[in-house]
Amino acid sequence: MKKKIALWAALTAVALLVTGCASEDPAAAPAPRTPAAGEATSSAGDPAGDSAGDSAGDPAGDSVGDKAPGAAAPAAYRKWGLKPFAPPPAPPATKPVVRRPGGPVPVISDIPTTEKIVFITIDDGAEKDPEFVTMMKDLKVPVTMFLTDAAIRADYAYFAPLVAQGHGLANHTLTHPNLRTLSREAQRREICGQQTKLTQRYGTAPRLFRPPYGNWNEDTRAAAGTCGVDAIVLWRESMQIKNMQYQRGDRKLRPGDIILAHFRGPSELKGRTMTEMTATMLRRIQEQGFTVARLEDYV
Ligand SMILES: [Zn+2]
Repeated sequence: MKKKIALWAALTAVALLVTGCASEDPAAAPAPRTPAAGEATSSAGDPAGDSAGDSAGDPAGDSVGDKAPGAAAPAAYRKWGLKPFAPPPAPPATKPVVRRPGGPVPVISDIPTTEKIVFITIDDGAEKDPEFVTMMKDLKVPVTMFLTDAAIRADYAYFAPLVAQGHGLANHTLTHPNLRTLSREAQRREICGQQTKLTQRYGTAPRLFRPPYGNWNEDTRAAAGTCGVDAIVLWRESMQIKNMQYQRGDRKLRPGDIILAHFRGPSELKGRTMTEMTATMLRRIQEQGFTVARLEDYV
């Protein structure tokens, strides 16, 4: 057990030295703004914001929305200090992102849509907070989990209830390497190896893959294609501790954006918990008038 945790710690320490890793690390990432300023801005823009809107909220709120797919009862949101999300629109009849038979694996950072929806993805799997499982059960907000064997091999069981709740299961390699430094065959072992492990452990084969640090090349695409991957999924925003890091200068969510977060705990979140980080991320999405949809319905 100790050995395995040490292995993941060593891998993430190495990861800090690799290009692209800054965006996966809250300490190393440039803060979009100071937390204090961020908090002030968000509460100014949304008077009901962090106070959960219990008095200012929609009086009819309790009677609607709780039967919609992907939507929880308003009381469940209040329990976590949140306002209810608008239910996501019905999934499209035809998926906007598909891999043609025998064609190259698509590489995406967002989904083409005009709906005010975004997609939440959570990487690695190092932090295994039982409260997060409860939170996801309460809120029914769909997420896609990109899991790395090195981060979860001591406790695959933690993620089983999340998979059972219907959250997406996706591949993030066996050992979290920078794939650009590996041959096509070595990349294939990393990707196919984790496809096999996840399929054996959870009884469902992942269709989506994310390269560690977002680093990939044409060998990655070719390798992923032979492992049964339907799409390589990158991201547009990266959730830090209190705010999102945006790739675009206007620092705004756009329809179809894919958001990256990580399974992280207090030691990486300056004392905050995984559920606090998640609640903050959901507020940032709500503040901009977006709701969360299921990535697997679009890819
Ligand atoms: Zn990662």
